[in-house]
Amino acid sequence: MRLRAGVAIDLGTVNTLVYLAGRGLVIDEPSAIGIDRSSGAVAVAGRAADALTGKDTRDIEVIHPLRDGVIADLGATVAMLQAFLQRAQLHRSLLRTSAVICLPGEVSAVERGAVVAAAEALRPRCSVLLVDEPVAAAAGAGVDLAAGSGAFVVDIGGGTTEAAVLAGGHVVRARSLRTGGNAMDDAVRQAVRREFGLLLGRDAARSLKMTVGLGDGAPAEVETVGVDAARRTPRIGRVPAALVASAVEPSVRAIINSVQELLADIPPNLAEDVFRGKIRLAGGGALLPGLAYRVETTTDIPAVVVDDPLRCVVRGAAHILEHGAGMPRVGVA
Ligand code: ADP
Ligand code: MG
Repeated sequence: MRLRAGVAIDLGTVNTLVYLAGRGLVIDEPSAIGIDRSSGAVAVAGRAADALTGKDTRDIEVIHPLRDGVIADLGATVAMLQAFLQRAQLHRSLLRTSAVICLPGEVSAVERGAVVAAAEALRPRCSVLLVDEPVAAAAGAGVDLAAGSGAFVVDIGGGTTEAAVLAGGHVVRARSLRTGGNAMDDAVRQAVRREFGLLLGRDAARSLKMTVGLGDGAPAEVETVGVDAARRTPRIGRVPAALVASAVEPSVRAIINSVQELLADIPPNLAEDVFRGKIRLAGGGALLPGLAYRVETTTDIPAVVVDDPLRCVVRGAAHILEHGAGMPRVGVA
């Protein structure tokens, strides 16, 4: 019989996922909350809040509390976490709770402490383990953490990219970039505005990015709808795939540079494991069309997108929750 309730949380810059032991994935929603401007209370959280992004609603202010890979708004992060955990009905359990939480690598020790305190405040005697995101990503990708073997993981999220070389459940080398899918979306918006005088919403830019990626195999033009910058009214635009591909290129190059820097610093004892285990790409950014191929051809090391990359970190965090005694504890100063 289970004596502790367990929760695993991937608190990402774009998506937050919550897994409850015995129940599975209970939350898989954008990291967003909407605050009622008059009362200051949380009015909506997750998908409903994110759907209002950039739509200038008069009564609700939408906040993405972890934008750009750091906790931009600590109060909003805590409020969002509380809203999700309440929705997951964690409070219903009478058991002591163990929580495994993954945060972006750039989050400071003070902020980590605040997130831990928020989780603990929800449940008396809740014990929280913060796990490095690449370690959870490796576990989610099926790497056997206990064996001490080497692995190379790149987790490409919205606001951050974390690349790491691991030995078992331990980080050997890591690089954290404050760039990812959001920067690609912003670059696509800017390019389409500059070249076509068309103002795109975030979702339209995101969809162009997802359709075209690095360009190979994409249709020559993709239709989109935005607002004409001069007339201020909606219109259709036909955007060349080459424009989208060149807009995402600088972010892709930055990601690949950090992969190459890490590869240039691999201890020889891990070289074979990394080569044979391949570069594992996780996070939503791993799905960018053409990225895995580009990583492979630039580094000369096989690269694969892990299964269901958007859920890889929470899957690994759940694995660590259930099997992970002795996993490394990180950064609650
Ligand atoms: P985070 O961990 O930072 O919350 P996620 O791992 O959830 O981020 O990934 C979200 C990012 O992945 C977003 O920038 C989103 O646009 C991007 N993404 C999701 N699906 C795709 C796709 N098919 N192609 C390219 N990018 C994608
Ligand atoms: Mg993530």
